[in-house]
Amino acid sequence: MVGGGLAGITAALDCAAAGASVTLLEVRRRLGGAAYSFDRNGLEMDNGQHVFLRCCVAYRALLRRLDSDHLVSVQPRLEIPVLKPGARAALLRRSSLPAPLHMAGALARYPHLTLLQRLGAARAALGLMRLNLGEEELDRQTLGDWLARHGQGAEAVGALWDLIALPTLNLPASQASLALGAFVFRAGLLAGADAGDIGFHRGTLGETIGRPAETALRRAGVEVRLGWRAERLETIARGLEVHGRTGTDRGSEPDRADAAGDTAGGRAGEGHSSGLSAEAVIVAVPHTRAAQLLEPLLGARASRLEALGTSPIVNLHVVYDRPVCSESFAAGVGTPVQYLFDRTAAAGAPAGCQYLAVSLSAAEREMGMSVDALRERYLPALAQLLPRARRAKVESFLVTREHAATFRAGPGVAALRPGPQTALPGLLLAGAWTATGWPATLEGAVLSGHAAAARALEKLGIAPEGHSAAASAGPSSSAQVRAGSARTPA
Ligand SMILES: Cc1cc2nc3c(=O)[nH]c(=O)nc-3n(C[C@H](O)[C@H](O)[C@H](O)COP(=O)(O)OP(=O)(O)OC[C@H]3O[C@@H](n4cnc5c(N)ncnc54)[C@H](O)[C@@H]3O)c2cc1C
Repeated sequence: MVGGGLAGITAALDCAAAGASVTLLEVRRRLGGAAYSFDRNGLEMDNGQHVFLRCCVAYRALLRRLDSDHLVSVQPRLEIPVLKPGARAALLRRSSLPAPLHMAGALARYPHLTLLQRLGAARAALGLMRLNLGEEELDRQTLGDWLARHGQGAEAVGALWDLIALPTLNLPASQASLALGAFVFRAGLLAGADAGDIGFHRGTLGETIGRPAETALRRAGVEVRLGWRAERLETIARGLEVHGRTGTDRGSEPDRADAAGDTAGGRAGEGHSSGLSAEAVIVAVPHTRAAQLLEPLLGARASRLEALGTSPIVNLHVVYDRPVCSESFAAGVGTPVQYLFDRTAAAGAPAGCQYLAVSLSAAEREMGMSVDALRERYLPALAQLLPRARRAKVESFLVTREHAATFRAGPGVAALRPGPQTALPGLLLAGAWTATGWPATLEGAVLSGHAAAARALEKLGIAPEGHSAAASAGPSSSAQVRAGSARTPA
């Protein structure tokens, strides 16, 4: 197994549970991949705010396997407070009616749209529901164009549709693939009344994913090698050999805080090189790394993974000297603040302070801004939304930037996402970027891990058990709504 993010963790657990002998190689000195925490000024901060939905059954099952499900909570009912400068806070809250009626009341009362806009949005939502997700045509257009054709103007898109598109697709509706957009709205809002109830990490990502995963993997008998960078793969008579280096990780993380992060870290030329052979290798690294690693074996099929592109996420971590916000999380409309989260308790902030994390998806513009420029733009914006922030002192202001947070979920992306099987029988792929049907999410990463493990076990002639057996037997309930995504092998 190469890569210790959620995909690699899941695949390693599945393979070990079925009785395979597994070694997991991870370049960093911790597990968790794109979902991690770091220490700064005595606080444990997450690189980015990660939420999930009740319908993310594979991710939630993984947390149960890691024994950390008590560190997350799912809202009893979908409820999104929406803040707008100069306006009263609105609440998008589902009712107990069956889908799609469960959102009708929330939409009818939503004050950030006019009555006509609300009626139009309801009609468009029903139209989205009727789309055939298996149709390839859907991936050739943007969600924005489709919404425009269905009467959704810029205001409706900004105040409603982008509230969902940005955090789930990491692109605004105007740039996102209609296929993935329709999938997200259907899976999260229209498939079942409770599907879109939002799940939060009450603990930090390190507490919830990285550390318990290491314990669970070691307990399952997986040999976990941290600080091990895979550099080259070659075929041998009985499988594959992974060549790499140890001791190449930078060791500490934050460092991505405000340095355009390099997921793999490390400097070439350090450490000791060695090789490991295996009958099957699952490559579960980010797609840009996978392209480089696999190119010598798979040629153009590997290099075209680069075409998946990337989309950045920026998080602002603001510690105030007093409580300024009563919401544990909220969305913003008519403000550059997309979403904010109260992370005071999770991070262990001192009593009396409040630590708010502002999450900015598709943050191309913010990637290029200095910390001072971000401070100048966002502190007044927060003060506009949160009157108590106007008198509060900002104790610290930190920025984390993930320049390749996700692949770019634009039109044409479906054809670029490979399935778990490559042209070489013992070489499998996993990662949120593979053809899971989901956008780049925690759920997609876990599903991809199950799928790759099922193929690897098949190659080894080992019967899958538990989770990977379920993955090979057919779609989980979270995958039942997946968009048509059968792919040719990479
Ligand atoms: C800031 C941010 C916010 C996000 N918010 C959400 C959210 O709210 N909800 C949601 O569902 N998803 C969210 N995501 C997406 C989610 O985190 C990812 O889709 C998921 O974690 C990807 O898991 P993965 O295992 O596919 O890949 P990764 O997590 O990228 O794991 C790949 C691993 O491979 C390792 N690696 C790379 N190169 C090598 C090498 N040469 N040798 C050995 N190891 C190597 C890396 O260090 C890494 O640990 C967010 C992502 C970011 C960055």
